[in-house]
Amino acid sequence: MKIPEIFAENVFNDDVMRSRLPKETYRAMRHTIDEGTPLEPHVAMVVANAMKDWAIEKGATHYTHWFQPMTGITAEKHDSFLSVKGEGDIIMEFSGKELIKGEPDASSFPSGGLRATFEARGYTAWDPTSYAFIKDGTLCIPTAFCSYSGFALDKKTPLLRSMDALNRQAIRILRLFGNKEVRRVYPTVGPEQEYFLIDKDLYEKREDLKLTGRTLFGAKSPKGQELEDHYFGTLRPRVLAFMKELDEELWKLGIYAKTEHNEAAPAQHELAPVFISANIAADHNQIMMELMKKIAGKHNLACLLHEKPFAGVNGSGKHNNWSLSTDTGVNLLEPGNSPYENAQFLLFFTAVIKAVDEYQDLLRVSTASAGNDNRLGGSEAPPAIVSVYIGEELSAIMDAIDKGVNPAAAEKKVMKLGVDSLPDFPRDTTDRNRTSPMAFTGNKFEFRMLGSSFSVSCTNYILNTAVAEELSQFADALERAPDFMKALNELVAKTVREHKRIVFNGNNYSAEWVKEAKRRGLLNLVYSDEALPYFKTEKNIALLEKHGVLSRAEVESRTDILLENYAQSVLIEAACMADMAMKEIYPAVAEYSAALANGVLAKRAVSPSIAADGEISLLEKLSEYGGEIMRRADEIDALLAEAKKFSDHESLAHFCRKKILSCMEKLRAAADAAEGVTAKSFWRFPTYADLLFSV
Ligand code: ADP
Ligand code: MG
Repeated sequence: MKIPEIFAENVFNDDVMRSRLPKETYRAMRHTIDEGTPLEPHVAMVVANAMKDWAIEKGATHYTHWFQPMTGITAEKHDSFLSVKGEGDIIMEFSGKELIKGEPDASSFPSGGLRATFEARGYTAWDPTSYAFIKDGTLCIPTAFCSYSGFALDKKTPLLRSMDALNRQAIRILRLFGNKEVRRVYPTVGPEQEYFLIDKDLYEKREDLKLTGRTLFGAKSPKGQELEDHYFGTLRPRVLAFMKELDEELWKLGIYAKTEHNEAAPAQHELAPVFISANIAADHNQIMMELMKKIAGKHNLACLLHEKPFAGVNGSGKHNNWSLSTDTGVNLLEPGNSPYENAQFLLFFTAVIKAVDEYQDLLRVSTASAGNDNRLGGSEAPPAIVSVYIGEELSAIMDAIDKGVNPAAAEKKVMKLGVDSLPDFPRDTTDRNRTSPMAFTGNKFEFRMLGSSFSVSCTNYILNTAVAEELSQFADALERAPDFMKALNELVAKTVREHKRIVFNGNNYSAEWVKEAKRRGLLNLVYSDEALPYFKTEKNIALLEKHGVLSRAEVESRTDILLENYAQSVLIEAACMADMAMKEIYPAVAEYSAALANGVLAKRAVSPSIAADGEISLLEKLSEYGGEIMRRADEIDALLAEAKKFSDHESLAHFCRKKILSCMEKLRAAADAAEGVTAKSFWRFPTYADLLFSV
C-alpha cells in the first residue's frame, strides 16, 4: 500500500472541497477557514449537501457532531442521514442547519454547575477549520460544544478563542516590524504520544487495569528497564502489525504519523505526528488515542494510555511541541538570517519566557490529574516546577542583554548586528535537555509535563492566551514608542532581566534544583489538589477574561470539574484496591498459608522431629502481611464512607490525597510484600513480569 493513495481518503479536506463545491462556495468556505469569518447559512447548505453526497459515496450512513466534553474523551451522538418524506418515502438528507448546529441532549455531560437545569440542551457548532472525516461509517463533524447562553462546555471552544486572541496580538507585533502581508498567525502543535501495549488476555485478568487504567498492586519484576534494551530495540511482530494498521488508519484520516519506536520502559512505545495548527492537532490527538485503543484490541493487545500504568517503571507523557506560524509559512520562533529577523525572533521568544514565568501556575494546572501526579517528579519526568531550558547559546545572549553589554562582543562568531544589542546567531538544536519541562529546541518549545491521557487543548489554550497577553503588552509599549528600535531593545532587556529566574538549563531531576527553584521564588505545586485551585486566582481569571477565552464562571466551573475528577479517580482506585485485597489477594494469602500449614502438619505426622523452618518462617511473614492487608482494607472502607460527607470538591480532593492515597500506599506495600512470598500458582492475577514481557 502506498501512502499517497490512501492519505486523507476519509477526510473532507481542501482537495475534496475544491473539486466538489461550486467555485463561489469553495471561495466562501476558504475565507471562513483562513480568516475565521462566520459561515453564511446559504454556504453551509451547499457544503452540507456536498459533504453528505461524498460521505454516502464512501459508504457512510450516519453523521455525528464530534466533540470533546470536559471528561477527556470524545463524545458523539449519531444521527442517520435518513429522513422520511411523505408516504413512507425515504431520502438521504443533511441540511446546512444540521451541519452548523447540532443539539445533543447533553444534560449528563459535566459542566461544573454551569448548565442550569432549565437549559435542557447545549448546542454544537461546527469548527470548519478542522475537516470533517469518516470513521466507522459515520461522518464526523468536529464541533465546539456550548450551552445556549454561550458557556463553553468543551475543550475546543477555549482553544479556538485563544487562537483568535493570539492571532490578534501577534499581528499587531508583525505590523510594527513593517510586515503587511501576514493575515493570520496560528500556533502549531505536534504532540508526541507515549503508550504501553500489553497482552489483552492478561489485561482482562486485572481488575485494576480495567477499572482505573493502572496497576494498583504488583511486586517489582525481576527484570525492569535496567538494561535499557527496549529503547529503540527491534519491534515484536504483533506490535509491528499493530503499528502498520494504526499508521494506515491514521493516514486515511489525513494524520501523518512520523516515528514509532520503543520507549525507555518495556512494552512502551511512542508515536509522533507531524505538527499542524493547534486545534487540528488537538482533534488528531483525540482520534489517535481512540484508534490506538481500538486497533490494539484487534491484535489482542490492550493499549494503556494512563500516565503511570506500572510503579517503578517509566510512565507515559505527551510532549507538546509548540510554535507560532504565519499563513505565509514563517515559523516565528525560528531565528532568522538577518539582524532584523532576529530582533523579531527575540521579541516572540522573550514573550514566551515571560508568559511561562507569569503563568507557571496555569501551565501546571493544565497538567494536573491524579494519574499524572504519579509521574511528575519521578526521575523520568520533569518535576512539578515549571521552568524553561533555552540552551547555552541563547543563555549567553540573554546574559549579555541582561548585563547591558553588546552580545555580539561576547560572541566569538561574527554577528551581523545593525540593531544595538540584538545579534544574529546560529540556531542551537544539538544540546537538548531531556529533563526540562519546557525546552526550546531550536525553533519550537517542547512542553513535557503533559500526561499521556490528556487532551492537549488545555495546555495549548493556556500557552496561547498567556503569550497573547505578553504580546499585547509589548505591542502597547512599542506602538507608542517614538523610536521603535530603541524601545524594542529596552523591552527585550527589561523582559530578560525580570524573567530570567524561569530559565534553567541544568538537571531538573536533581534535589538541588528543588532548593534553587524555591530560592528563586518559583512555584512547586507537587500535588494536583494543591495546583488546581490556582486556576481560579484573580490574576488568572483576569487573563482568561481579558482575552475572551474563558469567563469567570467558566473558569470556576472548570476548576470544580477538575477537582471532582481528581477526587473521583482516587476514590475509584481506593475502592478497587479494597475489593482486590479482599477478593483476590487475601484469599491467595490465606490459601497458601493453609497449604503451608497443612504441609507442616503432614511432615509432623511422618516424623514429629522433622524440620519445617521454611514453611514456618513463610507462615509468619504471610500472617504479618495478611494482617496488615486486612487492616488497611478496612481503613480504606472507613475512609470511603467518610469521603461521602464532603460537599465541596476542593476539600474532598485534599482529603483524598492526604488520607486515602497514603492509606493506599500502605495497603499496596503489604500486598506486594505478600506477593513476593506467595507461590505463583496461588496468586490470582498476572504479575508485573507477566504484563511487561507478554508481547
Ligand atoms: P525530535 O524532537 O524527536 O528530534 P522533531 O524535532 O522533528 O523530533 O519533532 C518532534 C515533534 O515536534 C514532532 O511531532 C514534530 O511534528 C513537532 N514539531 C516540529 N516542528 C514543530 C513546530 N514548528 N511546531 C510545532 N511542532 C513541531
Ligand atoms: Mg519524546
